[in-house]
Amino acid sequence: MNPRVRFAPSPTGPLHIGGVRTALYNYLFAKKNNGTLLLRIEDTDQTRFVPGAEQYIIEAFQWLGIPFDEGVGIGGDYGPYRQSERKALYKPYAEQLVADGWAYYAFDTPEMLDAKRKEAESQKKTFQYDVHTRMQMCNSLTLSEEEVQTRLQRGDAFVVRFKYPENTDIHVHDLIRGEVVINSNLLDDKVLYKSDGMPTYHLANIVDDHLMKITHVIRGEEWLPSAPLHVMLYKAFGWEAPQFAHLPLLLKPDGNGKLSKRDGDRLGFPVFPLQWIDPKSGETSSGYRESGYLPEAVINMLALLGWNPGNDQEMMSLETLTELFSIEKISKAGAKFSLDKAKWFNHEYIQLKSAEELAPYMIPVLKKNGVECDIHYLQNVIDLVKDRLNFINDFWDQACYFFVAPTEYDPQAVKKRWKEGMGDILQEVMKLIESFVPYDQQKAHDAVMQYIADHELNMGQVLNSLRLAIVGAARGPELFTMIGVVGVQEVRNRLDKAIQTIEGVRS
Ligand code: GLU
Repeated sequence: MNPRVRFAPSPTGPLHIGGVRTALYNYLFAKKNNGTLLLRIEDTDQTRFVPGAEQYIIEAFQWLGIPFDEGVGIGGDYGPYRQSERKALYKPYAEQLVADGWAYYAFDTPEMLDAKRKEAESQKKTFQYDVHTRMQMCNSLTLSEEEVQTRLQRGDAFVVRFKYPENTDIHVHDLIRGEVVINSNLLDDKVLYKSDGMPTYHLANIVDDHLMKITHVIRGEEWLPSAPLHVMLYKAFGWEAPQFAHLPLLLKPDGNGKLSKRDGDRLGFPVFPLQWIDPKSGETSSGYRESGYLPEAVINMLALLGWNPGNDQEMMSLETLTELFSIEKISKAGAKFSLDKAKWFNHEYIQLKSAEELAPYMIPVLKKNGVECDIHYLQNVIDLVKDRLNFINDFWDQACYFFVAPTEYDPQAVKKRWKEGMGDILQEVMKLIESFVPYDQQKAHDAVMQYIADHELNMGQVLNSLRLAIVGAARGPELFTMIGVVGVQEVRNRLDKAIQTIEGVRS
């Protein structure tokens, strides 16, 4: 049977990169095994619903280039894929569990629960609604059948709670962790359904995984504590449970604890795929896209946070990752996020792209700085500075002088290089450069070198002064290549201006 897996985010805010990694591993597993990946939106908790979050999730995966086969925004035979649109179908399942003795109605009011909590606290204990306490509470196990019916018909608020069997070892077979065993006496009777007609995550998740024929549940480690309940729910319904794989946590760079939503901007890297502006507070959190990462780099970096192909191979396209992926090679231990590694991947992926492929990323960077330019010129510039870029956004810093002539000249470099009489020397040098029409890089280079030798000039001072005139600072790619890209006429203009500015101040 071909596997069916799902990514099932709750639209409670921007998607954490841990969630992106979960989706990626589901994708790789599905593709590797000719399976199907679906996107289900788990929006039953209306109190945590955040407008725009669903759209954000869809846009993030579009940017990353991870397509879903079925789901919200795509469709498919098992829809609707948004749980709020499936609301009506969960009720009979909750009722069935009650009828079969696997669940019960609980009518305890918030005040009653609070009193129980306080009572436990006074004895230095924590209250848990479970096998030990359920018979002291107000529920269909303690009330008469008649009373329960009266309350239900009257429209009293209730919840349906799962009824764990007493003192039973529950076995969860996890593909990554092996067998996890927990005794039912330790577990609380989780709420499955509420009288407002909404199921909780647990019920909706299990019912949907069953109805959508999910074969493997691959999700973050934070869901491992819920797995025993899920295993029991499958048992209670008499359904075959899917296989479980709980992924290791993504840790802070120093390994101290889980990478949280707040860490990113605090530690200087994004924890979200796209920028997110909180609709309530207006607070902005940075995203990989806006920070100048390439999606290929983000995918490659994330794939290796918790998995490796069994050797040292690091650079892997989505295709190669798909070929090599296996759940057995996912590690149990948490994976430390590394900004240096993220940067390294991004640098490498930028180098793999041609100037033609990179140009569309650079156009917005130029626009932001009020520059529009010829596409061929842009591509030539990209070729010259590409190896200096870690991020797309570095482009302006590394290449601005190709688009805007300098108006200032680094005073330290001027002091060091531009000695008395340099203006006259550069005028002669420029004439030599202009004598080759069309411009010939090699010939211009050789002629200038000859001139420097014949006049016994300091090569570093002459060449760097010319560079200063073009760039405004002592930096940039090879001088004669740069002249070819900037254009001889423009270099002439910049030189005249530099002489005027630098020597004008001096005289
Ligand atoms: N809605 C859950 C989440 O937000 C899904 C967990 C699961 O995959 O079962 O992550």
